[in-house]
Amino acid sequence: MKIYVMTLFPEMVEQGLRNSITGRAMEQGLLELKCVNIRDYTTDKHKKVDDYPYGGGAGMVMQAQPVYDCYQAIREEIGHDCPVIYMTPQGKTLKQSMAGGYAKEDTLILLCGHYEGIDERVLEEIVTDYISIGDYVLTGGELPAMVFVDCISRLVPGVLHNDQSAVGETFAEDLLEYPQYSRPEVWREKAVPPILMSGDHRRIHEYRLEQQIQRTKERRPDLWEKAKPQLREKLSNRLKKNLLGE
Ligand code: SAM
Repeated sequence: MKIYVMTLFPEMVEQGLRNSITGRAMEQGLLELKCVNIRDYTTDKHKKVDDYPYGGGAGMVMQAQPVYDCYQAIREEIGHDCPVIYMTPQGKTLKQSMAGGYAKEDTLILLCGHYEGIDERVLEEIVTDYISIGDYVLTGGELPAMVFVDCISRLVPGVLHNDQSAVGETFAEDLLEYPQYSRPEVWREKAVPPILMSGDHRRIHEYRLEQQIQRTKERRPDLWEKAKPQLREKLSNRLKKNLLGE
């Protein structure tokens, strides 16, 4: 998968993603990241990319021309249309359920705003999707772009060591994941739940599902309301009785 990031701070995005799992994915050629500096495309002799907003108001607005020319150069390099995603607090909130679809694309272009945002006219021309990473306002789209790339790249086949790692995780089937434990068996007098050492895979599976249900009910009652009907359909009568008390 190839991801172009249009930004005024390419180093920030590159440095943020050239570590750990995303970094390894790049080394292995599973993920290609190209951060393109919008400033390189300004026709202003002082390399300016922003100006005052028409109608007044605080802050500066990124101008249409450098953003458009930067996009055109990328589009020419790619040679075909692809999703162009503007990271913005005004977008659809990123959800795990959306990530799988984007992970199947071979090419994506992400656009990061700064200051008060970007001239609406160029957004109308080039943007296909508007995505937010949550209901808060950040100073720029670089962190949201990193969050987005991290979230979708781990769903690209081969990026996680074990393809199963993304299965059964938090948000799969609208449930939070069960608690995890590793060595030692006892830490500060806290023992790992004995069932996890029993080797009885059926009982471990049931125990974990029970933990998922409890945790989701407690921490994310909104998610639990969505999960309940799906679970009811999938569970055997015995598990329905044990886990849902029905
Ligand atoms: N004036 C804009 C508004 O009220 O909608 C906010 C602009 S924000 C200060 C600057 C840039 O940060 C935005 O253009 C966007 O690219 C990015 N940004 C800020 N918060 C974000 C969020 N929650 N999700 C995605 N991008 C965000």
